[in-house]
Order: sequence, then structure tokens, then C-alpha cells
Amino acid sequence: MDTVDLLHSLGIDPAALEPAPSWAPYRGTSLARIDGSRPCARCGLPARATRVVDVPGLGRRWLDTCRDDFLAASRLWPSRMPSTVEGIVADLRTAAVEAGADLTIVTDDGMAG
Ligand SMILES: [Zn+2]
Repeated sequence: MDTVDLLHSLGIDPAALEPAPSWAPYRGTSLARIDGSRPCARCGLPARATRVVDVPGLGRRWLDTCRDDFLAASRLWPSRMPSTVEGIVADLRTAAVEAGADLTIVTDDGMAG
């Protein structure tokens, strides 16, 4: 399911979302958006969370949501976080290589680091 399908499944028109900057917004920029002045893109209640979504054909857009719709969207959105020990270790190894750092991982399940 791509971003447009996810938004449609939530009843949100991607074209109605406000364009977001091309740069990754600072935490303060995102927090300023959820001061209660913007409506939830799904239900119209004051937004309490925001994220930037990349919509094919439209570019980056702000997805402002209330708490309940943030949770609904989070359940549908694919996670970029590893969900296994092996995935976490792989991410740590990649980060260490990119940083040029030596890395020793010790786990309590006998997994080689
Ligand atoms: Zn809502």
C-alpha cells in the first residue's frame, strides 16, 4: 500500500494537505504546527500531531492529525524500525560502518556481535 492508498484508506484527500518544505523540518517547526490552530486532516478536530508524507505526484505534504487519527495512521504506516534483534544489529553495523567506528555488540542471547 503506497502513501496515496494509505491516505485514501483514512479518508484523507492527499491534494488537500498543505505542502511541506523540501528539507527535513526541525522538531520545533513540527511542534509549532500542532499548537491547536490547524485541523486534523481526517476529522477536523485540532491537530495534536504532524508528520511529513511524500505523496507521489504532489511532493512532500504535512499530515496534521488529532491524537486518535495519529494512532490510526501509525497503525497503517509501514514502520522503518527493525522489529527483530537481527534487524537492530544490522542497523547498528551499518551505522558504525558509516561513522567509521569500531563496534562490538554484546547481547544476552548468545548472538555474535
Ligand atoms: Zn482526527
